Amino acid sequence: MRILVTNDDGIAAPGLWAIAAEASRTHEVFVVAPDREQSAIGTAVTLRQPLRVRQTEPQKPGIVAYSVEGSPSDSVILSLEKLVKERVDLVISGINQGANLGDDVLISGTVGAALQGYLRNLPSIAISIATIENRHLDIAARLAALLATKIDNRVLPRDIFLNVNLPDLPLSEIKGIRITQLAHKTHIDSVNEGHDGRREYYWLVRRRLSQEVDPRTDIWAIENGYISINALHASLFGKPPLERPEKLCAELMKELTQWQMAI
Ligand code: MN
Repeated sequence: MRILVTNDDGIAAPGLWAIAAEASRTHEVFVVAPDREQSAIGTAVTLRQPLRVRQTEPQKPGIVAYSVEGSPSDSVILSLEKLVKERVDLVISGINQGANLGDDVLISGTVGAALQGYLRNLPSIAISIATIENRHLDIAARLAALLATKIDNRVLPRDIFLNVNLPDLPLSEIKGIRITQLAHKTHIDSVNEGHDGRREYYWLVRRRLSQEVDPRTDIWAIENGYISINALHASLFGKPPLERPEKLCAELMKELTQWQMAI
């Protein structure tokens, strides 16, 4: 398989190279990643300025690597459209330093990068570990390479967009793997205020709400020592349609008619 490896932690991040090194044992790997950390940039795409790309020295010899002055999404788009000349079979984004769970998938640059692969009909995997330490990257890298092989062997479908998270545990303490749902409304952004000596500032902080989490969810899995695999394509794009759309439509039409009559 030809695998594009990217991330949102930047070209120098150890998680990126842990996957690249592991996957390159059995697959052809290209590394294309932002030249600096771009965490929490979500699905951002650069449309109002040019993008500069530089071929860089790989941390693992033999792998072609580029750094991009842009977002994780930019990196994947450039790779698939220009930088990798042959067809890419799989996009892997990570290993992110820090979990991407629940609602956070919507602001995650790691997930945003993988989304660009999925939107181009490539199987795509975002993979994160619930720590900013680099203690157990080898487990995540092995799991990413295993999932790649499962896709290659058609055990997993090609039409797949996975969000994988690992707990910060040694292999012997991981309780298992759970196929999860995305947790919802479990975090809130609050604002800290301060003064830097010249001006006041605000600092956004993400806070976990202390509430019971559903055992079917990704957050429950990670907090209880399991690896979470979440099929984002089902969560984001496979939702059932609105219930009774004709009733909603009739109610909205009534409002619209009232606005029009008030002109
Ligand atoms: Mn990150």
